Amino acid sequence: VDVVMTAEKVERRLIAVGSGKGGVGKSTLSTNLAIALKALGHKVGMVDADIYGPSQPRLLNCEGRKPEAEGKQLIPVPNEYDIPVLSMGHLAKPGQAIAWRGPMAGKALEQLIDAHWGDTELLIVDMPPGTGDVQLSMMQNHKPVGALIVSTPQDLALMDAVRAVDLFEQAQIPIIGMVENMAGYICPHCGEVSDPFGAGGAEAAAKTMGMAFMGRVPLDIEIRKSSDGGTPPAYSESLQGKAFHDIAKRLAA
Ligand code: ADP
Repeated sequence: VDVVMTAEKVERRLIAVGSGKGGVGKSTLSTNLAIALKALGHKVGMVDADIYGPSQPRLLNCEGRKPEAEGKQLIPVPNEYDIPVLSMGHLAKPGQAIAWRGPMAGKALEQLIDAHWGDTELLIVDMPPGTGDVQLSMMQNHKPVGALIVSTPQDLALMDAVRAVDLFEQAQIPIIGMVENMAGYICPHCGEVSDPFGAGGAEAAAKTMGMAFMGRVPLDIEIRKSSDGGTPPAYSESLQGKAFHDIAKRLAA
């Protein structure tokens, strides 16, 4: 009997979620997309590759839990959303600054990806912002099947998004499309819609760059509150979650 061949091997696909700069909602999108893809029947896991500023333990409400290990491999941390996750946030002490140089950060990231992912089919990789060595080597080593780019409608964020696109192209990772986050602010008092970061910029940029536009997520205080509170809006089937479910459906199509 060929032991190697009988060992069950899950074909695991990685989807990278990237942005040119921080604070545009890359982690928020990653979490909610993971939950929405799970709702569509996929076995989804999360790698928080944002090793310098990990936020998935909080977003998936599993802060303070240490991953166990099997041999040399880490076992992803379970949570109430059934999205197993590995993050530097689970390995560092709370509030501890992670100040490593590139090679060490790269090694840490390898540990998170080459973990005991079991039957997880789809790994969402919440990438570090920017376009450095860590990002490039991760993509060259693990070849995500595609990358989603997040941007705000603002010109400056868009210019950064263009750089992120360039990085994925250098690594020959296909771009799945662009998501516009923080588009259109609904005033909680008067209901008027305003556009603090401009409007339609990401869609126009996607068109110019010849990539798919995957959808927009409004700037909504409820998204911030529920996300930071560890209850992702996509889980509660709230109005705020709808935008993420729509993006997941487009992604899965
Ligand atoms: P990044 O991963 O790009 O650094 P985050 O996902 O951490 O960005 O988002 C930064 C902050 O903005 C968080 O406090 C988050 O809750 C908030 N945020 C993200 N998207 C939205 C949105 N659509 N509406 C309101 N707040 C948002």
